[in-house]
Amino acid sequence: MQQPFYTSSEINRKGDYRNNKKLIEKIMVDENTKFIPYFNGKNFFKEINENIEALKLNNNQIKFFFPKEIKNPIFLGVANDTNYVGLDLSKQNLNLDLWLKENEVIVEDLRKYGPSLNDIDASFLALTNGMFFWHNSHQFCGSCGFKNKSREGGFVKICSNDKCGKSHFPRTDPAIITLISFKDKILLGRSPRFPEGMYSTLAGFVEPGESLEQALEREVFEEVGVKVRNIKYFDSQPWPFPASLMLGFFAEATNEKMNIDYNEIEDAHWFSIEELKTLQHPSINGGFKLPRVDSIARRLVDNWINKFN
Ligand SMILES: [Zn+2]
Repeated sequence: MQQPFYTSSEINRKGDYRNNKKLIEKIMVDENTKFIPYFNGKNFFKEINENIEALKLNNNQIKFFFPKEIKNPIFLGVANDTNYVGLDLSKQNLNLDLWLKENEVIVEDLRKYGPSLNDIDASFLALTNGMFFWHNSHQFCGSCGFKNKSREGGFVKICSNDKCGKSHFPRTDPAIITLISFKDKILLGRSPRFPEGMYSTLAGFVEPGESLEQALEREVFEEVGVKVRNIKYFDSQPWPFPASLMLGFFAEATNEKMNIDYNEIEDAHWFSIEELKTLQHPSINGGFKLPRVDSIARRLVDNWINKFN
């Protein structure tokens, strides 16, 4: 099966390094370490021979561009015998526009270039984004309100209040996403926040005390009023935009009657294989689009289409 986007089997996160403070300190000043910069939810890219690549900096470049110390680097892991570290430049007092222009660097949302990056870069960038989103949204202890300190290469935050000392770990929120079929048709819907014309599989966050299957049954019933059976797991997909883990499923509707909740979704239809291939549907003016190629939603739909080839 195809490896999910934003993951790479070439990356070793080296969790055992994180406790080794001396080693982490050494990696931070090593001239072979590659630094991945991050800026307010965005990443840095460079166009090289008409290809887009993730910008990676070495220690000399870091010192040259950012003479002030960059706090709380994150040790991301190792790939091809090279250590990778994430750096948050969001709080650097830097004239970003000038820096970008002088160095012909582009700062953009990872999703814009993600599908064209190699899997090691895409995976490290996704990890960097997820980690810094967590760091920036957990600056203070949720139990006592004191400031948290970054530890273990950035993978733990510890409350600075001696009386509390609570450890906080990176968060990722599970969400189910499901391709619902009825005989030879599948159900796709669109939320008002989707790009124009795009229809996708239904998805929703898992709530506390709920199994994945229960979350799936609940979300589908809430959104389109359809009951499902034969729930089968497909695959997962990290989606750190900012903090989700998508869990993909197939399920069968017990009948095709829909009762759409228009507070949740804007539109939903049953699509035949012919409609999926031609991107035309009798109820959608001007045709429709399938989900992004780097999403598990697209892989679910493609998997369905391929059954008919
Ligand atoms: Zn605390």
